[in-house]
Amino acid sequence: MAADLATITGMNAPTGLLIGGQWTQGRAGSLPVIDPATEDPIAEVASATPDDALDAVSAASQALPGWAATPPRVRGECLRRAYELMIADTESLARLMVMENGKALKDARAEITYAAEFFRWFSEEAVRIDGMVTRAPSGANRILVQHQPVGVSVLVTPWNFPAAMATRKIGPALAAGCTVVLKPAKETPLSALAVAAILTEAGVPDGVVNMLPTSSPGPVVGAMLADPRVRKLSFTGSTEVGRMLLRTAADTVTNCSMELGGNAPFLVFGDADVDAAVDGAMIAKMRNGGEACTAANRFYVHESVATEFSGKLADRLAALNIGPGLDAGTDLGPLVNSDTRNKVATLVDEATRDGSRVVTGGKAPERRGYFYVPTVLDDVPPTAGILNEEIFGPVAPIVRFTDTDQAIAMANNTEYGLVSYLYAADLRRALQVAEQLEAGMVGINRGVVSDPAAPFGGVKQSGLGREGGHEGLLEFTETKYIAVDW
Ligand code: NAP
Ligand code: MG
Repeated sequence: MAADLATITGMNAPTGLLIGGQWTQGRAGSLPVIDPATEDPIAEVASATPDDALDAVSAASQALPGWAATPPRVRGECLRRAYELMIADTESLARLMVMENGKALKDARAEITYAAEFFRWFSEEAVRIDGMVTRAPSGANRILVQHQPVGVSVLVTPWNFPAAMATRKIGPALAAGCTVVLKPAKETPLSALAVAAILTEAGVPDGVVNMLPTSSPGPVVGAMLADPRVRKLSFTGSTEVGRMLLRTAADTVTNCSMELGGNAPFLVFGDADVDAAVDGAMIAKMRNGGEACTAANRFYVHESVATEFSGKLADRLAALNIGPGLDAGTDLGPLVNSDTRNKVATLVDEATRDGSRVVTGGKAPERRGYFYVPTVLDDVPPTAGILNEEIFGPVAPIVRFTDTDQAIAMANNTEYGLVSYLYAADLRRALQVAEQLEAGMVGINRGVVSDPAAPFGGVKQSGLGREGGHEGLLEFTETKYIAVDW
């Protein structure tokens, strides 16, 4: 089993827990990693217990003073080496990711580049942790403001971007001088463990980065949040689990950053370049097979261009090659597990019962693996249930509109507020609409917004805080004010 994985990926992927610089098997058992294209196990990974988690917190806590005192330039150079090692290993890391997550190899390669870019960006930010000095209004003293590392940070990541969600947290944490314990998703621990091995190779000292795959996330994360040495939780995942962790973090008043679910609207106005909008939709909807918090989840298209948009999008989706992510020519791999595939199938069935029209797709293919056929639904009633749920799959529901204010109101009619997309030729109007959309991010005439140099995050129940940009670094710092008379 392990030999197969090594042959397929060209690397010996670690499968242990990483605690204080040692790879260990931990105290209890292991968890299987499944290939979603075949439903077969590909590896067994050590599974941490709450006691293992407290060991990891101890290791991170012991490493903290030394790492926080390490010159920012040296911290940055570790991250820079990690960036270079990741880029050099792109092919192996991408293949490993395909094996555990299912995504098409081209999506996996793109993710490794994106993931590595967080190390490069934060290697550059490590030396730009600014402070401030002002004179108090009374004139009595100076106000000195510093940003200090927040301390031991617990990082919890999802399966949909198994490398990038890890580097987007580890990069800024290490740049700021924090030490971390990361708990990857149980479906995709291998990519995170491989990132940890790269950081070790890049010279990150023992205990600065610890990794805990586990089959019991609640008790493991709960034990760490109850420990007063832990000062920060950075979580990416569902709004449901995020809410629960915020409640737990309240007991110790732990600082939280939350990247939660999304329900992105994609608006196409009557003056939009329809071909460009279809190109954008292919990325916004189909990047990662639709398994993205940023995935376009609801298309609101002006009546005057709706038939053209719907037809062209359906043609493009119908032409995609479905297959195992590693096969040459595969555009769309399987979904990550059977629950995700079944949820997508149920949402499509309900939408057709609600009166939507299937333009293409609308079913799971007859084959092994968690596949779903790319689907376009047109004439979706604005009240259809599918518009309230994160689809997390290759399904594009189209709602037709005639009035701009009505389109904006429908776009904002959700508890989520991560990202919105809009296509329009009139940039003045596009910017006016962008200001009215309740979202942390807006893509205008673009199907992708993610960029390590930009602040990524949501409003409403899509989250708290930002990752990437300079803001991403500040999330791992505490502001200290010193009043001084000199
Ligand atoms: P999830 O079920 O919330 O899981 C996310 C992480 O939390 C996993 O590591 C999971 O571990 C862990 N977890 C589950 N229950 C927990 C508990 N009781 N205590 C502590 N940790 C727990 O989400 P998912 O299904 O993996 O990922 C999909 C979701 O993530 C979507 O809603 C998507 O929108 C969101 N997402 C958001 C962003 C963003 O930046 N806003 C980015 C990517 C994904 P297990 O794997 O062991 O369950
Ligand atoms: Mg889950």
